Amino acid sequence: MASSVVRVDLDGKPINPLTICMIGAGGFIGSHLCEKILNETQHKILALDVYNDKIKHLLEPDSLPWAGRIQFHRINIKHDSRLEGLIKMSDLTINLAAICTPADYNTRPLDTIYSNFIDALPVAKYCSENGKRLIHFSTCEVYGKTIGSFLPKDSPLRQDPAYYVLKEDASPCIFGSIEKQRWSYACAKQLIERLVYAEGAENGLEFTIVRPFNWIGPRMDFIPGVDGPSEGVPRVLACFSNALLRREPLKLVDGGESQRTFVYIKDAIEAVLLMIENPSRANGHIFNVGNPNNEVTVRQLAEMMTAVYANVSGEPALEEPTVDVSSKEFYGEGYDDSDKRIPDMTIINRQLGWNPKTSLWDLLDSTLTYQHKTYAEAIKKVMSQPTTS
Ligand code: NAD
Ligand code: UDP
Repeated sequence: MASSVVRVDLDGKPINPLTICMIGAGGFIGSHLCEKILNETQHKILALDVYNDKIKHLLEPDSLPWAGRIQFHRINIKHDSRLEGLIKMSDLTINLAAICTPADYNTRPLDTIYSNFIDALPVAKYCSENGKRLIHFSTCEVYGKTIGSFLPKDSPLRQDPAYYVLKEDASPCIFGSIEKQRWSYACAKQLIERLVYAEGAENGLEFTIVRPFNWIGPRMDFIPGVDGPSEGVPRVLACFSNALLRREPLKLVDGGESQRTFVYIKDAIEAVLLMIENPSRANGHIFNVGNPNNEVTVRQLAEMMTAVYANVSGEPALEEPTVDVSSKEFYGEGYDDSDKRIPDMTIINRQLGWNPKTSLWDLLDSTLTYQHKTYAEAIKKVMSQPTTS
């Protein structure tokens, strides 16, 4: 419950209650951010999305203690004249709306580019024209590949952090060629970052850009055939969860050699709340938000998820828990990958004093406990139904 004690910012100044226009509030990150804001602050949320399934528990029943502080607006920002009015009514806009599943980047590149660049343009423009603050969600994928990945395989420089740690104000953005359509998303996100930055430089827009590094936790994406399309390909957490729930081997794309750092959604949301409530420290900055201590290869992630899920479900792991698949088979033509993603934490540490806390094992334990509770029965039902040919 939100306490009545006056909240103070990092400089000890009282925080006035804000009205926040949150676009994409019905998604994975949005649902956790809404929960945090409603539970811990007095801010009001105008929640915009085309779906609200993941925030239904915050909207109903009307008797919820925060009922007057969240209003859902079913709006597709591609074509809805109410958008500017809602931004004008708010002190701050947070834009989370995007197509952001890699399986779409090479198969639906036009939708991906429109969603991540064209649809975000009016949001930046309305904020700038109306003197409203904007927190825009970008991605760690704007860094693309590391410099180190272009060095010979046996080069000792590959071990030097200067060749792989990703720094907001120093690292280049290195994408593959145009026919590698995987990079349509990263490229669109990079251009909208540049536009938001330019609105700040030329027109005084107060902005913060967030670059999430693989935030994971409950409510991420969907389980194919249960609460999403049977043929859909979500991000890795949901792909692996789906395989574990169905007792099928986890598919390792191109050998599972790519490396990722995973951060627990609840740690990451704390960083966003600090940005919301400390505009003088967050404005004008781009922030990496990730956990550099939680690095694994995708193969190691699969092994760890298999072990954690066996604990959580009480069912022994399969004898052959993983299977290799080519990226062409799994994602189709035009897929490419980021090799390694370690966030530099200097800027977020200096400006907001934020650090992630949760280890990979612990975050997988709580997330897979949620997946098991939420989906195990539903999967059994789906799997017991005869398949139609
Ligand atoms: P998500 O898909 O769960 O949430 C996005 C939400 O935006 C969805 O609810 C969707 O319905 C909504 N949306 C999309 N287009 C819309 C439109 N035209 N009008 C209204 N609503 C629309 O994704 P998420 O993981 O919560 O990601 C949120 C943001 O963070 C995205 O911008 C994404 O690119 C960025 N991001 C997330 C991660 C991560 O680790 N989760 C990593 C990198 C970047
Ligand atoms: N991946 C995999 N098997 C799957 C799903 C994903 O091996 O079933 C790999 C994917 O190729 C990538 C990594 O897991 O190397 C992370 O993929 P995700 O979709 O989560 O998004 P990304 O981190 O690439 O943005």
